[in-house]
Amino acid sequence: MSQHFDIAVIGSGAAGIAAAVSAARAGRSTLLLDKNPAAGGTGGFSGLTTLCGLYDDAGKFLNDGFAREFAEAVAEAPPLKSGRLWVLPYRPEKFRAVAENFFRSPPGLQTAWNAPLINVLVENDRIVSLNGFKVGAVIDCSGSAEVAQAIGAECLATDETTQASAVVFELRGVTREINSPADAARVLLPVIRAGFQPLNFHFNLEPGGITAKFSGPPEQVPALIEFFRANVRGFENCVSPQTTFSKSRRAGRMIVGKYILTGADVLSAKKFPDAVARGAWPVEQWNVDGKARVRWLETGAYYEIPAGALRAAKIKNLFMAGKTISADVEAIASARVMGGCLATGAAAGILAADSLNSKP
Ligand SMILES: Cc1cc2nc3c(=O)[nH]c(=O)nc-3n(C[C@H](O)[C@H](O)[C@H](O)COP(=O)(O)OP(=O)(O)OC[C@H]3O[C@@H](n4cnc5c(N)ncnc54)[C@H](O)[C@@H]3O)c2cc1C
Repeated sequence: MSQHFDIAVIGSGAAGIAAAVSAARAGRSTLLLDKNPAAGGTGGFSGLTTLCGLYDDAGKFLNDGFAREFAEAVAEAPPLKSGRLWVLPYRPEKFRAVAENFFRSPPGLQTAWNAPLINVLVENDRIVSLNGFKVGAVIDCSGSAEVAQAIGAECLATDETTQASAVVFELRGVTREINSPADAARVLLPVIRAGFQPLNFHFNLEPGGITAKFSGPPEQVPALIEFFRANVRGFENCVSPQTTFSKSRRAGRMIVGKYILTGADVLSAKKFPDAVARGAWPVEQWNVDGKARVRWLETGAYYEIPAGALRAAKIKNLFMAGKTISADVEAIASARVMGGCLATGAAAGILAADSLNSKP
């Protein structure tokens, strides 16, 4: 007889980590599987170094519970204020280690790495088995709705014109202080004049470190670094600890849920009776030329994410979190940041665990 898990979580990025730990803490036998060799997803492996979407305009946590617990465990420095927004700087290796640490405590949580989704079996609008395991409920945290795709459940897609991919890479050995957008603009102007596509800088905890998000092709990154070394003061000795460069996708596919969160909900700071998470990050969309279009909520405002956006519309025991929640292209451009993924992940874990208490 095949092994049974109450809950299977696919994908171990910010959302999947939160979903699996929360489901297991609710007393459910939980399987977390990922095609990667370890937990972390985009937050742990793409080179990102700032956690966004954790705080309101006053710098207070928007979501208590697991999102806050994870942030406090990963923090090595206080949050930073950039304009209206607060972000938490972090090290990707600590992000991965903190995840592993969370997996140790709840009994009944099993992880499987190098374990891609292979098959999903549906009977009477319920998923009954996944990769050969019998399952009570499934949480799709794959970032690209892999479970929903495998069973033909309805999805919504973003595209590269509003959520363009970017290459995230680190530079070390930078001796110039970049403390403001004006400092960054002075450094980046000659780079753009030289014909490179736009890039922007983010805080990095490493001394002499800086994180870049580059909208051009990955194969141009070595030439870009050479350009910095040859032409930009303070970057003469910069190097990247990375040897390969690849594009990370900002958004992929969202699963149609019982409710589709919209850009209008986000921008009007909508509240819901079945709210399970909060967000306040602006609607931040990136076009293929590397330019951002940012639309803001009113000062001090936050929106809520309802449980209906974490529950698939037709498959009764399918839940989703992180980049795959039921949201239109504008709403996901806010909710996709990691603070939002941690919060929806934790909520989906609890919702899936609770759903097993009621009769189908
Ligand atoms: C260029 C760029 C810059 C960004 N900048 C920031 C930033 O500065 N701050 C911030 O907070 N957010 C930022 N984001 C957004 C944020 O990083 C992501 O939206 C968030 O990390 C997504 O988390 P997730 O858990 O939903 O998915 P992911 O982190 O993508 O995790 C999905 C996991 O599912 C696994 N998986 C996928 N398919 C399968 C399969 N078939 N079988 C098994 N496993 C599978 C993957 O291996 C992966 O581990 C950025 C994103 C990008 C691309």
